[in-house]
Amino acid sequence: MQPKVDKDTCIGCGTCSIMAPKSFQMTDDGKAKAINPAGDDEETVTKAKDACPVHAISL
Ligand code: SF4
Repeated sequence: MQPKVDKDTCIGCGTCSIMAPKSFQMTDDGKAKAINPAGDDEETVTKAKDACPVHAISL
């Protein structure tokens, strides 16, 4: 599974990087970045995706 973050949509809330820290990282520009391949299991990544308030994550 390859998560992707739409940086234009991301508001930098940090939720995904807290919920799935092996799959998402915050960057210097204040946006989230997907780590590929994702280090967390599929359920964890999916929960982080669903928790994104602006739906910036796709799988
Ligand atoms: S949860 Fe969504 S808005 Fe928040 S940092 Fe992650 S991608 Fe960006």
